[in-house]
Amino acid sequence: MEDLEKTCEKCGLEGEYQCPYCNKWYCSRHITPTIDEYTYGHKCEPYIAQKTTMEREKPIPIRPPKRPEIKDMDKELKMLLKYSIILIILMLIILLFFRISRTV
Ligand SMILES: [Zn+2]
Ligand SMILES: [Zn+2]
Repeated sequence: MEDLEKTCEKCGLEGEYQCPYCNKWYCSRHITPTIDEYTYGHKCEPYIAQKTTMEREKPIPIRPPKRPEIKDMDKELKMLLKYSIILIILMLIILLFFRISRTV
């Protein structure tokens, strides 16, 4: 039974929070697990290990984002189609106007 007073591993202040990665106690300023020694948080080796493995696994789900690119192209095509339709309608209106002005 550890009845020891929990103190921050970094600054020695009262340890209010326990890091879920390294299970060490830290104060509110040093509880954030970081990948490097920053002024805030604490360098947490288990956290770094988990992050690097997560990053290693990342490239697999990165492949699907190719689809949005096609979607974007589809969007552009639709935009182009829309504009061309507007242009055709405008030309028709101009032609109609010409015909009307000729008959008058
Ligand atoms: Zn601290
Ligand atoms: Zn930690």
